[in-house]
Amino acid sequence: IVSVSAGPSCPIVKIGGSRITVIAGPCAVESKDQIMETAAMVRESGAVLLRGGAYKPRTSPYAFQGLGMQGLEFMKAAGEANGMPIVTEVVSPELAVQMKDLTDMFQIGARNMQNFELLKKVGSLGKPVLLKRGPSATIEEWLMAAEYLLASGTKDVVLCERGIRTFETYTRNTLDISAIPVVKGLCHLPVIVDPSHAVGIRAKVSSAALAAIAAGADGLTVEVHPRPDEALSDGPQSLYPEQFEKLMRDIEALAPVV
Ligand code: PEP
Ligand code: MN
Repeated sequence: IVSVSAGPSCPIVKIGGSRITVIAGPCAVESKDQIMETAAMVRESGAVLLRGGAYKPRTSPYAFQGLGMQGLEFMKAAGEANGMPIVTEVVSPELAVQMKDLTDMFQIGARNMQNFELLKKVGSLGKPVLLKRGPSATIEEWLMAAEYLLASGTKDVVLCERGIRTFETYTRNTLDISAIPVVKGLCHLPVIVDPSHAVGIRAKVSSAALAAIAAGADGLTVEVHPRPDEALSDGPQSLYPEQFEKLMRDIEALAPVV
């Protein structure tokens, strides 16, 4: 079980064990108002950890790159206002050091799963880490990446299946559902699923999320935006608040939620 803490004034969030932990928030922090509004909505629906990117690894260098350190400050404030620890992506060893006191859990993005110098630095900082599976990584490579974090000093690693690249084009990636029982048979780390990046299409995200819970995932990380049509990144896969609320009720019908 991995515990994520934002300090004495915020509830400790546990990932792993007998309950489902739901992380939710926008793809990217876009403004103070946007992250505040999203945090309050997802908290109200039952999410316990707030997600959001301040440093965004975008395919195009001309796409919105994130608000950087200011975005992180906005997200920390939104987490504190709503009693939620925060998780955010870190893209370089230098930034990991700078971000340490402003995040409660580091996310290693799919594109950086085998950035070994990043893994070593992040693993040495003593914060819990959410390790996404690379889009073309085998399960063995993914587990070895987790091993880098563990070998560098952290005990708190959560694995995240977020879809892998296949020949299929109707979905953004292909959710590897069987990775959940396979990984659970190979190691003790909690496993969560990111149905948003796996599927890439808003209308299909909830089905994938529920399948992940049925397959034994310890939790989910889901992109939600108050106005997905205006989102600066990943709008097409971001759930409307009402869709997220419905998804939370459907999850509760399948399994107990934190
Ligand atoms: C994200 O979580 O916003 C993200 C960029 O995910 P991934 O690294 O899985 O593509
Ligand atoms: Mn995204």
